[in-house]
Amino acid sequence: MITSNTGEVQLNTVLPWQAKQWGRMLSHVAAKSLPHAFLFSGVEGIGKELFAKQLSSFLLCEASENESNINGIRNSCGICKQCRLFESDTHPDFKFIEPEEGSASIKVDQVRKLVDFFSQSSQQGGRKIAILSPAEGLNNNAANALLKTLEEPSKDSVIILVSHQPGMLLPTVRSRCQVLDFSLPSLTESLAWLNTYKNQLGTGDSLSEEDLRETLLLANSSPLKAISYFDIGALTEHRLMLDELGSLLKNDSLSTTLATRWNDDISLLRLSWMILWLEQILKLKFGSTLKVTQQAEKMFIYLSEKASSAELFSLYSSCLDQYKLFLGTSNPNKVLSFEVLLHKWSSLMRKA
Ligand SMILES: [Zn+2]
Repeated sequence: MITSNTGEVQLNTVLPWQAKQWGRMLSHVAAKSLPHAFLFSGVEGIGKELFAKQLSSFLLCEASENESNINGIRNSCGICKQCRLFESDTHPDFKFIEPEEGSASIKVDQVRKLVDFFSQSSQQGGRKIAILSPAEGLNNNAANALLKTLEEPSKDSVIILVSHQPGMLLPTVRSRCQVLDFSLPSLTESLAWLNTYKNQLGTGDSLSEEDLRETLLLANSSPLKAISYFDIGALTEHRLMLDELGSLLKNDSLSTTLATRWNDDISLLRLSWMILWLEQILKLKFGSTLKVTQQAEKMFIYLSEKASSAELFSLYSSCLDQYKLFLGTSNPNKVLSFEVLLHKWSSLMRKA
C-alpha cells in the first residue's frame, strides 16, 4: 500500500553539505556573538529546516551552554534534560511556527502569540528559540507584527526564519536577519549520502546506483525528498506510470481506467511527475541533450518530434492549472482532471 508521506528525516549529525554553515554557527556560539535573527535561505528539500532544528537543539542543550565545552562539542548531547524536552517536542522555550492545517500562510494571531512568548522570561533558564517555516508564508500583517521583535529582541532569544523563496519576504524583515545561504548538494554528494543513509537504515537495499539517480531526478535533486520517496516506493510507482502512459498513447480508451487508478493518496505526486515529463519533452524539443529517465527516453523523444510546441505548452499549462487546484481547498474531481489530461496526452499522438 502506497501512502503519501513527506516523512521527516531523523538525524543526529549535520548533513555533509551543511558543514560550512554549521561551522559558522559554532564560531558564533564560541565567540558569544550569536545573532538574534537568522534567515536560512535556499531551495526546498535540502535540509534547511532540519538544520534549524539541530541548531535550536544545540543552543538549548546544557552541554553546549557549559563554557568549557563550547569548543569541545559539536552537536547537542541528546542526554540532558533540555535535549530530552526538545526531542519529545515539549520544550517550553522552543516554538515551531508553520501555517496551520489547510492554510498556506502564517497568520497574525500565530505571530502575536510568538511575540508574547518572547516577552516572557525563559522557563528553563536558557535561551528562547523560535523557527518560522516557511517564512514566505507570513502574510503582510503577520510580518509587520514580527518586525518589532526582530528589531528589539529580548535577551537570549533567537528567531530563525526558514525560506525557500526569500525574495517574497518583506525587505524590512529580510534586512533585520543575518542571512545564511544553503545550496543544493552536488550529484556526487547526494549519491554518496543516499548510499550511506540507505545502508544505515536498511531501507532501499535493493536500489542500484541507477535507481538512486532516477529517484533524485524525480525528487528535483533533493536528497531529503528522495529519502521520503524510498518509503513510499515512488520509483516502482513512477515506472509503472510510465508504462501506463505508453499503453495510453497506443489506446486512448484506457484513460478512464488510469484516471481512476491515479486518484489515490499520491495523486499530487503523480501530477508533479506528469509536469516533470512535459518539461523533459519540451527540453528535448528545443534540442537539449538532457538525460531523461532511461525507460522513457524513446517515448519522450518520439513525442518531442511528433507534437507541436503549442500542443506541448498547452498540456503543460493545463497540468500546472490542475496542480494548483489539487493543492487548493476546493476539493476538485481528480478523476475527471486526470481523464481530461490523459485525453490531451493521447491527442498528441493523433496530430500529424
Ligand atoms: Zn543536551
